[in-house]
Amino acid sequence: MSTQMQGYIDQAEKDLLHTYNRYQIVLDKGEGVYLYDTDGKKYLDFVSGIAVFALGYANKEYNDALKNQIDKIIHTSNYYYNQPAIDAARKLKKVSGMDRVFFTNSGAEAIEGALKAARKYAFLKDGKNDHEIIALNHSFHGRTFGALSVTGNPKYREPFEPMIGNIKFADMNDYDSIKKQVTDKTCAIIMETVQGEGGIYPADADFIKKVRKLCDEKDILLILDEIQCGMGRTGYMYAFQKYGIKPDIMTTAKALGCGVPVGAFMMTEKVGQNSLTAGDHGTTYGGNPLACAAINKVLDLFEKEHIIENVNQVAPYLEEKLDELKTRYSFITERRGAGLMQGLVMDMPVGDIINKALEKGLILINAGANIIRMVPPLVITKNDVDEMIDILESCLKEV
Ligand SMILES: *Cc1c(COP(=O)(O)O)cnc(C)c1O
Repeated sequence: MSTQMQGYIDQAEKDLLHTYNRYQIVLDKGEGVYLYDTDGKKYLDFVSGIAVFALGYANKEYNDALKNQIDKIIHTSNYYYNQPAIDAARKLKKVSGMDRVFFTNSGAEAIEGALKAARKYAFLKDGKNDHEIIALNHSFHGRTFGALSVTGNPKYREPFEPMIGNIKFADMNDYDSIKKQVTDKTCAIIMETVQGEGGIYPADADFIKKVRKLCDEKDILLILDEIQCGMGRTGYMYAFQKYGIKPDIMTTAKALGCGVPVGAFMMTEKVGQNSLTAGDHGTTYGGNPLACAAINKVLDLFEKEHIIENVNQVAPYLEEKLDELKTRYSFITERRGAGLMQGLVMDMPVGDIINKALEKGLILINAGANIIRMVPPLVITKNDVDEMIDILESCLKEV
């Protein structure tokens, strides 16, 4: 590493709050599926800023759309209408099948809004303040208090307790564990359609369909968090579309703006008409013209560049190659995931492997201590998969 890059890192460690154990590189620019650090070293990127930069870096059409919007207007206020937000909401409704959209600045903020909508819906039904929400173990929904309260990882919650009240936990793909937690106070069940951070666990079709049916029977709202698994990543625009079901409320973020910080929570018309109303919720930046110009261009490019078709072509190849690796290395115990959201589970911590890969010019990330997570840009090709496998395998040989 150059003394210049080391200098940047030393400075960062003096000035930034140390809430991340950062990898020892300073990223500078990107081009397609490659990133470059400030020394000019090139990296194949299989993380895309954690499932954000779906379109690949330096997409000219995307960058130009942002530049044009900057020259026009960056921000108004949600007290006024703006055209990019109107267009973005209509497009988002079309690809999600939902009816009402609220734009946020992040994923966690979308979760906050979803939880508030669910509580308000129940409050309007019976006027009580004792409603319960069921969340799942190993889930991840964000770092703000509401989102943290439904995050199924005690380590993240404990130092900050008390959480918001009346949250119960059940297990992914264990319908009985959900049923056991349901009472007549239950107002919502929140889950990721594919758990990300908690270890890449996709929901079984049978499980999610049963949960949907239970929610219908008891007028419980199903909240699906598609912040990581949505936006084409699993080969469907939203992962729930595979199961032929629909949530009552859903969240989206990460790849939605492809780098511009933006998220949204969306709901059916029924929930929209019977939950949050004027004065109940707001945000200064959420859905501002710059953020929505990004969403508009991202959704246009998804169609024009056949992003989902590419996921469906490349993902089976990636799965096949990862499965082959598994047969060659006994310490790989499982490969699981959906589409271009894959986890390679090992019987040991994966930190060393990820650091070795970084040295060899490949960016990977973990999901929990023992899982290598791959959430590459959705524009990767089979050649990129081959390149990734070559580097990864050279690292596996060394452990
Ligand atoms: C990243 C993530 C969040 C939180 O999003 P932020 O933008 O970091 O607040 C919530 N849910 C899931 C499933 C995520 O992957």
